[in-house]
Amino acid sequence: MAKLFGTNGIRGVFGENLTLDFISEIAFALAAFFKKSPILVGYDGRESSVVITKIISSSLNSAGLDCAISGLVPTPCLQYATKILGYKGGIMITASHNPPQYNGIKAMARDGVEISREDELKVEKFFFRRSSKLSSKRLGTTTQENRAIETYLKGIKKQINTRKIKSRKFTIVLDLGNGAQATTCPRLCQELGCKVITINERIDGLFPGRGTEPTPENLQSLSEKVVESHADFGVAFDGDGDRSIFCDNEGKILTGDRSAILLSKFILEKNPGSTVVTTINSTSSIEEVAMKTKSKVIRTRVGSVEVSRKMVLTKATIGFEENGGFMYGRHNQVRDGAMTMALAMDLLASSGRSMLEEMALLPPSFTTKGKIECSKDEATKIIESLKRDDHRKITTDGVKIFIDKSNWVMMRPSGTEPIVRIYAESNSQENLDNLFAKYMSKIKSIIGR
Ligand code: MG
Repeated sequence: MAKLFGTNGIRGVFGENLTLDFISEIAFALAAFFKKSPILVGYDGRESSVVITKIISSSLNSAGLDCAISGLVPTPCLQYATKILGYKGGIMITASHNPPQYNGIKAMARDGVEISREDELKVEKFFFRRSSKLSSKRLGTTTQENRAIETYLKGIKKQINTRKIKSRKFTIVLDLGNGAQATTCPRLCQELGCKVITINERIDGLFPGRGTEPTPENLQSLSEKVVESHADFGVAFDGDGDRSIFCDNEGKILTGDRSAILLSKFILEKNPGSTVVTTINSTSSIEEVAMKTKSKVIRTRVGSVEVSRKMVLTKATIGFEENGGFMYGRHNQVRDGAMTMALAMDLLASSGRSMLEEMALLPPSFTTKGKIECSKDEATKIIESLKRDDHRKITTDGVKIFIDKSNWVMMRPSGTEPIVRIYAESNSQENLDNLFAKYMSKIKSIIGR
């Protein structure tokens, strides 16, 4: 098990566990891992991001590697530019949706995808050996990379029917959440001939608008704006712009599962016989949609890196997570908020229907999720106890319990916070509410609350 890397890169509170020394040591370990340069470095809009970028680039240079700074960009932009512009690796400074005091480091391989779990362990080995420090006689250089955003937007537009989209003259509401997609998404919409209405568009590391993470609870203004402006749809991004949560033309916020099914159906109908990779906690309706197009579904442990790396291995067309992380393999095997938004436009332009009408064509599915704050010991106690549940279960990642063919519940300790997350799916809202309440109270009784 990795000690420094969590579910999604290295994260910590800047100045506390993410100290200047630690960041520098990590950069030296990454330099020893990458070996070759140049490395592309980008950052999100957090207050500590620029300082961390300077430490990273100076450390890479001290270790003999050249690097180029892309500036403030969404994570998927940095990833795509790393791949297309021929960098030997990429480093993104971001803590995604964590609170403002956090920051983090994500490492990308030259293929534009996060390094694999095995490679994370290699980086840690270099870190704990501290063998690479100042081993190079040559000092590297740091330059600017100004082509990242242009390259990224061009790449997205290559995947969609821009002519058809432009002819629809969509009205789109973007809730940018004071995050990094503000640098790319409004521009993409304009280039696609849309009327764009933005909310929380000012980049601010304190995320004063609706916070960093788009959830059904904090997207009220998005929903209202969509209705008020008669928009075709709305979309909200997380802090670093890799996840996207949609709002249909009547202002209803969709779960990440529902938007993933919507886009998967569209893509699979055009590309039958494809592979879809998704995590163990996402909706079962993907199996139904895949079956109709002779496609197959591969399930992985929770974590976008697991999905991405499996997509690369299996040449999958689609990857997704229930939290709004959607990956289109033909563009890049990573979560990408702007690519996902563009696919939604492509779908509506192609069908001529509204998003609401499209949603009505999907198989019914009811999913929910929640969390309980608890210590690490309590989390272990919960999982161990539920592993003794009588129903059929999978225990590769937490515990997933199958009540019957269409009802399941899953519990898993978070990789980034002291909580246990609970996911459930059912064939009706009533069954879902009952199932969820039953397991919530089971968990509470296990930890004696
Ligand atoms: Mg993110």
